[in-house]
Amino acid sequence: MISFQKLGLEPTLLQAISDLGFKQPSEIQQKVIPMLLTETTDLVALAQTGTGKTAAFGFPLLQSIDARSRSVQGLILTPTRELCLQISNELRLYAKYVKGLKIVSVYGGASISEQAKTIRSGAQIAVATPGRLKDMIERKLLDISKIEYCILDEADEMLNMGFYDDIMNILSYTPKNKLTWLFSATMPSEVEAIARKFMMNPAQITVGARNTGIDTVRHEYYVVGGRDRYEALKRLADANPGIFSVVFCRTKRDTQKVAEKLIGDGYNAGALHGDLSQNQRDLVMGAFRKNQIQLLVATDVAARGIDVDDITHVINYQLPDEIETYTHRSGRTGRAGKSGVSMVIITRSEHGKIKRIEKKINQKFEEKPIPSGLEICEIQLYHLANRIKNTEIDEAITGFLPAIADVLEGLDRNELIKKIFTVEFSRYYSYYQKKRELNSGSVKSGAGDYSSNGDSVRFFINLGERDGFDWKSLKDFLKKKLNLERDDLYKVDVKDSFSFFNTDSAFSGQVVESLASFKLDGRTIKVEISNAPGSGRRSKGQKGRKRNYDASGPKKRSRGKSKKSGRPKNKQKKGFY
Ligand code: ADP
Ligand code: MG
Repeated sequence: MISFQKLGLEPTLLQAISDLGFKQPSEIQQKVIPMLLTETTDLVALAQTGTGKTAAFGFPLLQSIDARSRSVQGLILTPTRELCLQISNELRLYAKYVKGLKIVSVYGGASISEQAKTIRSGAQIAVATPGRLKDMIERKLLDISKIEYCILDEADEMLNMGFYDDIMNILSYTPKNKLTWLFSATMPSEVEAIARKFMMNPAQITVGARNTGIDTVRHEYYVVGGRDRYEALKRLADANPGIFSVVFCRTKRDTQKVAEKLIGDGYNAGALHGDLSQNQRDLVMGAFRKNQIQLLVATDVAARGIDVDDITHVINYQLPDEIETYTHRSGRTGRAGKSGVSMVIITRSEHGKIKRIEKKINQKFEEKPIPSGLEICEIQLYHLANRIKNTEIDEAITGFLPAIADVLEGLDRNELIKKIFTVEFSRYYSYYQKKRELNSGSVKSGAGDYSSNGDSVRFFINLGERDGFDWKSLKDFLKKKLNLERDDLYKVDVKDSFSFFNTDSAFSGQVVESLASFKLDGRTIKVEISNAPGSGRRSKGQKGRKRNYDASGPKKRSRGKSKKSGRPKNKQKKGFY
């Protein structure tokens, strides 16, 4: 067992480590820390999220910096404000006993003059997001022309967010003789390009299998007939009332067409593609940021710069040509500590592509049925009920009350509720009543399998995002509360103020009993069997697959680079799948 004492760190840093309760260096720390302490080298380090990369560069940086000097010597570039703050705070803990050391956090949305003041007061390390940093450099509030260490943290994510040009620009202000340490979970070609252009013979350290996706994103696919794509998209949107989503299409033409159809059908949708003027694109992005657009239909190229944190779903209306692109797409959601869902609409013949993406991203997809019309109606009803309940009354309405009361006179409470809901419900009900169901059936187990199997029960529970849950944490919560295994709970769908989940029918008594008089923060928690027929049935095939998904055995290595680059050049692009 390697201890922190053996890595070559100073006593002040070791003391902080002991205060933090870190017992043993993680693998990436064991490899990176001694190297950066003893060698003057550029470095590319690849390791999954949560492996302790901050400490891997943080400690060597702190040990190398001259805390008596009052100038910025180390620059850490990071994709988001959240990460910027997180890293700053973490470094401050590491530097607890380093006298005179100051760290400045440089990010947008906060006072630029305050940040400039901290820099002037003698900060030696700047942790920055690219946008604000560029701004500060241009306004001459921060001089990075004499830095000695430049760290690119979460490099793939920064490029994913469209910061390529900004990073290039920022790096051009840094001196040639600095050291550059790049940390990333994956190595897409853009990261390689940065490494080639700005680094000198970087050492390479890879720990574990490279993960290509972030595990805060759940991947789902839906098999439909080729002509049902649009109808399927609508259902996915309807089944997720609070959806805030980017819908990816392959071509500009499809992007425009799908957006127009959605708008025609009454959705808050917008199109983003290269045939629009910059002005039009700014308008659409502005509306999206303000949540006025719920479904942003976009091409891959146009969506590159999207830096919106709260995207709940990414919908792949069509799969991209290249697998790498899928990673970029799904990375739009599950950001800043939130979880997200990446949904793919495919036809039966595209199933092989899903398999290849799974291999590449080292994560399993869940095959799900397109929600039935009745399930959608049920979801919309609960959503409406909750919206009514949680709406703050606008007192301006008081003046109109007598007139309204006059019209509604003679209706009792029950009748009134029924009528209000009919107004809303009929819209969905009459629409979906006329529609045939879409599932072209599970790829594995044949058509119609979802509803033929009655051994699964779908539950409704009045806990949702509002209570701080996402599908992952709710699953964990229920698992513990109900004393079930991971595998016994599935199809956990978290909505705004309620959720659905499935168990095998054998557990249904247990579910109802365990939660019978349960209270969370004083609120009674209700769990009921959901009435939507056909909801939540799962096929045998799915069950087996699910097991695979949860078994956390050794991760398969994603397809090696060597194989890819071994292909003839002209085939590299197309023959990806
Ligand atoms: P990454 O950047 O690789 O995603 P972080 O640097 O954010 O990971 O570290 C993840 C968490 O692990 C942090 O809360 C950090 O404090 C903790 N951590 C880092 N190194 C160790 C260690 N050697 N022992 C215990 N916890 C650690
Ligand atoms: Mg990190």
